[in-house]
Amino acid sequence: MSATERGRADLAAWVWAQPTDLYVDDTDLCALIGHHGLGAREEQFSNAGKAVAGPLDAAVRENNLHRNLPVLDNWNGIGEYTAKVHHHPTWWEAGRLIYGTGIMALYAEAPVSHRSILTLFYLTAQAGEGGHNCPLACDAGAIRTLSALGTETQKEAYLTPLLDPDFDTNFTASQFLTEVQGGSDVGANTVSASMVSGGRDPGSIWSISGEKWFCSNADADVFVMTARPDGGADGTKGLGLFLVPRLKPDGTVNNFRIRRLKDKLGTRSMASGEIDFSEAYAEALGPVDDGFKSVMQLVITTSRLYNASGCAAHARRAWVVASTYAQHRKAFGQPIAQFSTVRETLAWMRADAAGSIASTLWLSGMLERLEAGDLSSGEAGFFRVAVNLNKLQTAVLAHDAVNHGIEILGGNGAIESFSILPRLLRDNVVYENWEGTHNVLRAQVLRDCARLGVHNGFFDTVAGVLGEEAVRDDRLEMESILTLDADLAALRFRRLASRMAVLVMQAALKPVQSLSDHAGLLERHRSKVPVDAEYLARIDRLQR
Ligand SMILES: Cc1cc2nc3c(=O)[nH]c(=O)nc-3n(C[C@H](O)[C@H](O)[C@H](O)COP(=O)(O)OP(=O)(O)OC[C@H]3O[C@@H](n4cnc5c(N)ncnc54)[C@H](O)[C@@H]3O)c2cc1C
Repeated sequence: MSATERGRADLAAWVWAQPTDLYVDDTDLCALIGHHGLGAREEQFSNAGKAVAGPLDAAVRENNLHRNLPVLDNWNGIGEYTAKVHHHPTWWEAGRLIYGTGIMALYAEAPVSHRSILTLFYLTAQAGEGGHNCPLACDAGAIRTLSALGTETQKEAYLTPLLDPDFDTNFTASQFLTEVQGGSDVGANTVSASMVSGGRDPGSIWSISGEKWFCSNADADVFVMTARPDGGADGTKGLGLFLVPRLKPDGTVNNFRIRRLKDKLGTRSMASGEIDFSEAYAEALGPVDDGFKSVMQLVITTSRLYNASGCAAHARRAWVVASTYAQHRKAFGQPIAQFSTVRETLAWMRADAAGSIASTLWLSGMLERLEAGDLSSGEAGFFRVAVNLNKLQTAVLAHDAVNHGIEILGGNGAIESFSILPRLLRDNVVYENWEGTHNVLRAQVLRDCARLGVHNGFFDTVAGVLGEEAVRDDRLEMESILTLDADLAALRFRRLASRMAVLVMQAALKPVQSLSDHAGLLERHRSKVPVDAEYLARIDRLQR
């Protein structure tokens, strides 16, 4: 065999070494599933793990090619507006595989197992955004809002088809908050709502006008959106939450125009548009005057957990690709996995991925307890803080993990046709922005701590798992930050926020003995960890 043939054979061996079931291969996840008592769902998880390792991956790779991206196709032959987006057949195939896992149908169970749903999402999101992950998070927000606040008529019309696992017949949803003058600053929203009938009660009929600037899943069946009822107060207080169906009750297209689709860095298979509404038919979702509260509790909390699960998925998939590559790629006469620096990078990636899914499952379990009315006020404070910090930290860690994976693949890492990693990196940049930018999440947590004292519940809950010693310094730092002026407090909290988020991951890993090395390695994000023989042994235990 020539050197060239040997080099190519090594790459082929890497391709063949890819797991055929991303659930079974993920022993870290399997350990967490055992800890959470979700073993009865293993077959469902394994089916999703096989789909993502095979047909789903292939479909998503194909639908992400430039020539197959969604395009507007919104006028019919006789000049009627249809609001349609044309998707490549592999986008439909991916949708059938993802929804076919039963992920949205799980919301029909009582009580809802958010941990099972976000495990399925973690598995399917390992194919990248794929044109369906953002819509899934939006579906989930719409389902939770309709379940909690919808009228019986709304539930029948919209909730039932959102729960349908058949992608050819179901409904999907979208969430439109952002306007051109501001996304983080939702209180700057100016899209307006005029009451048509029914007063301000749930299900009342309204007419919506104005422009939404970022509208992902632009061809969804139902849009969940914020708008300011006529005469509403300024800021977030005056916002209402509305459901705008794509079709009006008479079956004609609602009064909106998709102006254009955005040409994006990542999440490219998913159609994100700019939409003008002109007296569109809308129904109030819950009491109109509680709009912002409903958005935060039911929509944004849900999508922040989805975002975190998707980021954990990106980090894990990067590890799968890079850890197998390191076993087969040779340099200087040996597989690159034999270099301790490569092994260290791989161990970081694995530990960060495990920490990210562990914290997300812990928080999902708390959401289940919150819905059951079973959280103490301290735990509720912890949940409020931790969901936001977890969204932030999982996105940061996933970005680093995918970057590290690209580094391990060397020049091949930068090649789109070689591996999924360039696409994961592009998708991940969008995940960092969605559902709250880093600064905005930190600002929200700091505000909540100052106003509601929720940091006490945060530290008490973590101390309940890790012991007071583990949280003492951070607790003192938080108390000190709260005495500072705003500028300095924001800068000091920027540093503390990441340390607090890592505490959540470590506490989530703690009960699972086989994940103690992962928790130990996460400590490097919090403090200076000695690099000694013990550290090297830990790294080696985290190799494939
Ligand atoms: C591909 C894509 C799809 C999207 N789809 C949707 C969608 O379907 N629906 C939807 O509603 N939105 C959507 N968005 C919009 C997204 O949610 C917003 O971009 C995001 O909320 C940030 O808002 P912004 O872009 O207005 O940034 P800005 O709010 O203008 O922020 C700009 C910068 O200022 C910083 N900043 C802002 N406020 C503060 C503060 N208080 N303290 C410190 N720093 C601050 C931010 O962190 C950021 O770095 C999408 C975005 C992308 C990229």
